[in-house]
Amino acid sequence: MADAALDALYQEIILDHYRRPRNFRPLDGATCTADGKNPNCGDALTVWLKLDGDRVSDVTFQGVGCAISKASASLMTEAIKGKTRAEAVALFEQVRALVTGEAGTPARKDLGQLRALAGVSRFPMRVKCASLAWHAMKSAMDGAAGGGAAPSAGRVTPP
Ligand code: ZN
Repeated sequence: MADAALDALYQEIILDHYRRPRNFRPLDGATCTADGKNPNCGDALTVWLKLDGDRVSDVTFQGVGCAISKASASLMTEAIKGKTRAEAVALFEQVRALVTGEAGTPARKDLGQLRALAGVSRFPMRVKCASLAWHAMKSAMDGAAGGGAAPSAGRVTPP
Protein backbone atom coordinates (compact mmCIF):
# COMPACT_ATOMS: atom_id res chain seq x y z
CA MET A 1 0.00 0.00 0.00
CA ALA A 2 1.29 3.48 -0.85
CA ASP A 3 2.44 5.59 2.08
CA ALA A 4 -0.36 8.13 1.65
CA ALA A 5 -3.02 5.41 1.63
CA LEU A 6 -1.47 3.77 4.66
CA ASP A 7 -1.36 7.12 6.50
CA ALA A 8 -5.04 7.66 5.72
CA LEU A 9 -5.93 4.19 7.00
CA TYR A 10 -3.94 4.71 10.19
CA GLN A 11 -5.54 8.12 10.71
CA GLU A 12 -8.95 6.53 10.30
CA ILE A 13 -8.15 3.91 12.96
CA ILE A 14 -6.94 6.61 15.39
CA LEU A 15 -10.03 8.76 14.85
CA ASP A 16 -12.36 5.80 15.17
CA HIS A 17 -10.87 4.79 18.53
CA TYR A 18 -10.88 8.41 19.69
CA ARG A 19 -14.55 8.95 18.83
CA ARG A 20 -15.70 5.51 20.00
CA PRO A 21 -13.16 4.41 22.61
CA ARG A 22 -13.43 0.67 23.40
CA ASN A 23 -13.70 -0.54 27.00
CA PHE A 24 -14.24 3.04 28.18
CA ARG A 25 -15.61 2.46 31.69
CA PRO A 26 -14.49 1.66 35.23
CA LEU A 27 -14.02 -2.04 35.82
CA ASP A 28 -15.98 -3.86 38.50
CA GLY A 29 -13.76 -6.31 40.33
CA ALA A 30 -10.53 -4.83 39.03
CA THR A 31 -7.48 -6.33 40.72
CA CYS A 32 -5.24 -3.36 39.99
CA THR A 33 -5.43 0.16 38.64
CA ALA A 34 -3.16 3.08 37.88
CA ASP A 35 -3.51 6.69 36.80
CA GLY A 36 -1.53 8.24 34.02
CA LYS A 37 -1.04 11.95 33.56
CA ASN A 38 0.63 13.92 30.81
CA PRO A 39 0.60 17.55 31.99
CA ASN A 40 2.17 18.82 28.75
CA CYS A 41 -0.95 17.89 26.85
CA GLY A 42 -3.61 17.68 29.55
CA ASP A 43 -4.11 13.95 29.16
CA ALA A 44 -5.30 12.20 32.32
CA LEU A 45 -6.58 8.67 32.40
CA THR A 46 -7.12 5.71 34.64
CA VAL A 47 -6.52 2.11 33.62
CA TRP A 48 -8.19 -0.82 35.36
CA LEU A 49 -7.02 -4.40 35.04
CA LYS A 50 -8.49 -7.67 36.16
CA LEU A 51 -5.77 -10.27 36.47
CA ASP A 52 -6.86 -13.89 36.55
CA GLY A 53 -3.70 -15.60 37.75
CA ASP A 54 -1.14 -14.44 35.25
CA ARG A 55 -3.63 -13.50 32.56
CA VAL A 56 -5.37 -10.20 31.84
CA SER A 57 -9.01 -11.29 31.86
CA ASP A 58 -10.33 -7.75 31.44
CA VAL A 59 -8.99 -4.23 31.00
CA THR A 60 -10.74 -0.87 30.79
CA PHE A 61 -9.87 2.82 30.91
CA GLN A 62 -11.47 6.19 31.40
CA GLY A 63 -10.27 9.75 31.25
CA VAL A 64 -9.78 12.84 29.19
CA GLY A 65 -7.16 13.56 26.61
CA CYS A 66 -6.19 14.24 23.06
CA ALA A 67 -7.04 11.97 20.16
CA ILE A 68 -3.71 10.14 20.31
CA SER A 69 -3.85 9.41 24.05
CA LYS A 70 -7.43 8.13 23.96
CA ALA A 71 -6.99 6.14 20.78
CA SER A 72 -3.81 4.55 22.12
CA ALA A 73 -5.57 3.65 25.39
CA SER A 74 -8.51 2.17 23.50
CA LEU A 75 -6.19 0.15 21.25
CA MET A 76 -4.24 -0.96 24.32
CA THR A 77 -7.31 -2.41 26.02
CA GLU A 78 -8.17 -4.42 22.90
CA ALA A 79 -4.59 -5.56 22.43
CA ILE A 80 -3.77 -6.87 25.89
CA LYS A 81 -7.08 -8.43 26.89
CA GLY A 82 -6.51 -12.17 27.19
CA LYS A 83 -2.74 -11.79 27.17
CA THR A 84 -0.46 -12.96 29.95
CA ARG A 85 1.33 -10.37 32.01
CA ALA A 86 4.60 -11.06 30.16
CA GLU A 87 2.90 -10.80 26.78
CA ALA A 88 1.32 -7.47 27.74
CA VAL A 89 4.66 -6.07 28.84
CA ALA A 90 6.31 -7.34 25.64
CA LEU A 91 3.60 -5.56 23.64
CA PHE A 92 4.24 -2.41 25.65
CA GLU A 93 7.91 -2.56 24.66
CA GLN A 94 7.00 -3.01 21.00
CA VAL A 95 4.60 -0.07 21.08
CA ARG A 96 7.16 2.08 22.86
CA ALA A 97 9.71 1.27 20.14
CA LEU A 98 7.09 1.95 17.48
CA VAL A 99 6.07 5.41 18.71
CA THR A 100 9.60 6.53 19.51
CA GLY A 101 10.78 5.36 16.09
CA GLU A 102 13.57 3.40 17.74
CA ALA A 103 16.23 2.62 15.18
CA GLY A 104 16.17 -0.91 13.87
CA THR A 105 12.66 -1.69 15.06
CA PRO A 106 11.21 -4.18 12.62
CA ALA A 107 7.68 -3.49 11.46
CA ARG A 108 5.80 -6.11 13.40
CA LYS A 109 2.90 -7.65 11.53
CA ASP A 110 1.43 -9.03 14.73
CA LEU A 111 0.89 -5.55 16.11
CA GLY A 112 -2.31 -5.34 14.09
CA GLN A 113 -4.16 -2.07 14.55
CA LEU A 114 -1.47 -0.86 16.93
CA ARG A 115 0.62 -0.12 13.87
CA ALA A 116 -1.65 2.89 13.40
CA LEU A 117 0.42 4.51 16.17
CA ALA A 118 3.57 4.37 14.01
CA GLY A 119 2.93 7.87 12.68
CA VAL A 120 3.44 9.25 16.19
CA SER A 121 7.19 8.75 15.76
CA ARG A 122 7.20 11.73 13.42
CA PHE A 123 5.82 13.93 16.23
CA PRO A 124 8.08 13.66 19.30
CA MET A 125 5.66 15.81 21.33
CA ARG A 126 3.04 13.10 20.89
CA VAL A 127 5.11 10.18 22.13
CA LYS A 128 4.00 10.77 25.72
CA CYS A 129 0.38 10.90 24.62
CA ALA A 130 0.68 7.59 22.81
CA SER A 131 2.52 5.79 25.60
CA LEU A 132 0.51 7.17 28.54
CA ALA A 133 -2.03 4.34 28.85
CA TRP A 134 0.71 1.76 28.37
CA HIS A 135 2.79 3.18 31.18
CA ALA A 136 -0.31 3.17 33.40
CA MET A 137 -1.07 -0.43 32.44
CA LYS A 138 2.47 -1.52 33.31
CA SER A 139 2.42 0.47 36.54
CA ALA A 140 -0.84 -1.22 37.56
CA MET A 141 0.66 -4.63 36.88
CA ASP A 142 3.87 -3.82 38.74
CA GLY A 143 1.75 -2.76 41.72
CA ALA A 144 -0.20 -6.00 41.53
CA ALA A 145 2.96 -8.08 41.45
CA GLY A 146 4.00 -6.95 44.90
CA GLY A 147 0.94 -7.20 47.02
CA GLY A 148 -1.71 -9.83 47.50
CA ALA A 149 -5.33 -9.39 46.56
CA ALA A 150 -5.81 -5.77 47.58
CA PRO A 151 -6.36 -3.37 44.68
CA SER A 152 -3.23 -1.30 44.15
CA ALA A 153 -3.10 2.24 42.92
CA GLY A 154 -0.06 3.45 41.12
CA ARG A 155 0.64 6.85 39.73
CA VAL A 156 2.80 7.28 36.71
CA THR A 157 4.21 10.18 34.79
CA PRO A 158 6.12 8.94 31.77
CA PRO A 159 9.65 10.29 31.48
ZN1 ZN B 1 -2.04 14.18 24.38
